[in-house]
Amino acid sequence: MFDKILIANRGEIALRVLRACREMGIRTVAVHSEADAEAKYVKLADESVCIGPASSAQSYLNVPRIIAAAEVTDAEAIHPGYGFLSENADFAERVESSGFVFIGPRPETIRLMGDKVSAKQSMIEAGVPCVPGSGGALPEDPKEIVKIARAIGYPVIIKAAGGGGGRGMRVVHTEGALISSVAMTRSEAGAAFGNPTVYMEKFLENPRHIEIQVLADQHGNAIYLGERDCSMQRRHQKVIEEAPAPGIDRKLIAKVGEACVAACKRINYRGAGTFEFLYEKGEFFFIEMNTRVQVEHPVTELITGIDIVQEQIRVAAGEKLRNTQKEVHLRGHAIECRINAEDPFKFTPSPGKILTWHTPGGPGIRVDSHVFTGYTVPPHYDSMIGKVIAYGDTREQAIRRLRIALSEMAVEGIKTNIPLHQEMLMDTHFVQGGTSIHYLEKKLAGNT
Ligand code: ADP
Repeated sequence: MFDKILIANRGEIALRVLRACREMGIRTVAVHSEADAEAKYVKLADESVCIGPASSAQSYLNVPRIIAAAEVTDAEAIHPGYGFLSENADFAERVESSGFVFIGPRPETIRLMGDKVSAKQSMIEAGVPCVPGSGGALPEDPKEIVKIARAIGYPVIIKAAGGGGGRGMRVVHTEGALISSVAMTRSEAGAAFGNPTVYMEKFLENPRHIEIQVLADQHGNAIYLGERDCSMQRRHQKVIEEAPAPGIDRKLIAKVGEACVAACKRINYRGAGTFEFLYEKGEFFFIEMNTRVQVEHPVTELITGIDIVQEQIRVAAGEKLRNTQKEVHLRGHAIECRINAEDPFKFTPSPGKILTWHTPGGPGIRVDSHVFTGYTVPPHYDSMIGKVIAYGDTREQAIRRLRIALSEMAVEGIKTNIPLHQEMLMDTHFVQGGTSIHYLEKKLAGNT
């Protein structure tokens, strides 16, 4: 096992990885920007290194500085968390060529899955069901594009091959808007992701977002840890996640889970990963794979009892998975609310000093957050400041516990989206379960 791990991230996930390391007796190095110098996890880490000014481009995305920090502290492995460099194949390659272990998949796997066109292609080959689409990058010839769209049937969605974070997508309802939409998505994709390649998919009108968590080791073993329902989204960004997904046939989940495991073996996957699907009318359609730990991993940890971050570290160190598929049992229900420093209904960011931060507790409540009373939320990064997760024997119990937890929570000095979560937890359709990816936006627009 490793002696020392460098955590190349910030915020709640930096603290989450730090806790996993401490439990495993591994020393930690926190790297941080000037804006994060006072963070709690920076102080909790055995060592810390400032890697640049507040701007992410000069700090958390600064590959030479991160590698240098690993060298001076003599760390053996680097955990990238999520976001920032976690799905950057060039970074993973640099880490490994500099003699460190990258805690994640092989660089070539990240590259393959990072391009959504090649990812879909390899999933089709592995027998994973995909959204019907262009079956590759869109050609230049407008006539060809029109033909492809007609064959798929409107509405269609134009997506950037290099897209991520819910950006680089455009829905097209009619042929008249097709060519200009393709051109716009192309130029946006080129500017945002450095890759103008786009592809086309059938736009599913009322799907749910269901994803399968997988773990794979370097000895040819792979398992899936059930599914998560992440349909509660705004602007393609997840707001509430839960596991298991309410109301889906377990046999169907098992079939899709087994297909994901087969795909992992086929692409020689290593570490933790997530296969994302849209689910509509009893069918699953693959959209993309995330080759890293996800924000919503705690709901799976709570219903399986498996520590996903510790498994990532063990696999990276060359150990075998600790569980076989037969030993994975789902028990109870877990729901996570992402707590953002933002106006709950206008969604404008609300950085600043937190004057009161009182977190809830009690049976089945887990709070993953790096903030505290007196902490200043910097304006430079993502607005998520933590997650409140509730576990219960049943979905009803998890919802009840989450409602109580949020009512106990007190945050002063900044605005948070807690009032929005409280409203959603009382919403009859959410309580029933199984709402689509459009539900939250429809509700916010007053159309439910
Ligand atoms: P990203 O990498 O940016 O997260 P995804 O491909 O995972 O992109 O898609 C993000 C979200 O966009 C999905 O959860 C879903 O809400 C919506 N979406 C993507 N593809 C489709 C589609 N074919 N039909 C309907 N909605 C889609």
